[in-house]
Amino acid sequence: MADLEGGAPVPPTPRPISEPETAPASPLTSLNNSDPITLRVGERNFVTALATLTGESQFFSSMFSGNWHNTKQPDGSYFIDADPDLFAHILRYLRHNMLPLFYANGHHDLGLYAALLGEAKYFQIPSLVKWLEHETYFRAVKVQRDVDEAENVLDLRDLTKSNEEVEYHPFRTTEKVYVCPRGISLHRGRPNACGRLCQRARGDDPEEYEDEDVYKALVIRKTVVFDHRLCAGDE
Ligand SMILES: [Zn+2]
Repeated sequence: MADLEGGAPVPPTPRPISEPETAPASPLTSLNNSDPITLRVGERNFVTALATLTGESQFFSSMFSGNWHNTKQPDGSYFIDADPDLFAHILRYLRHNMLPLFYANGHHDLGLYAALLGEAKYFQIPSLVKWLEHETYFRAVKVQRDVDEAENVLDLRDLTKSNEEVEYHPFRTTEKVYVCPRGISLHRGRPNACGRLCQRARGDDPEEYEDEDVYKALVIRKTVVFDHRLCAGDE
């Protein structure tokens, strides 16, 4: 269980759905699955299809089964006593069946998961409740690490992609560097640059190398990878 202390919203407790003043008790037998439904949630209206609402939510199945007193408003919308921002996530899930990931800048929004769990329970959506209760979202975000050794750190900065985080760990090391027998600095480190005169100067001696300090960097690229299959519910 993740630590949700410190400001995580408390999941709302179930609220009564019927509003006696505004509830005409007629069953909704005339509604078709593809009929548009307008839900009044807090101060916002959401328009969707009946099938979207009743597909997985037992709350909406009951509400539109005709067994309940409904909450139809004079303008034809249905009043739902819920937080519209959270309800937008509920409706997105019901529409697309994609389990939500609230992940940005290396962190999951645990407060939002906790708040949405309360709504998922209220609207009785078992797969969403399970996703949030089991904290499966942690498994849907993976960080891939690639480690490279770079000769020139400055050249690499431009290659950073937006979904990458790059760490540089500079270090100093020594390398054997070829030295020209005639001491020509342009030939240093480049044995092929030495011509006949250099070879003659070396005579029968072996090629000469000396230690040189070099500055390198370990480049660690972290790429965030989302497991969309897990979000679609088919593990
Ligand atoms: Zn040379």
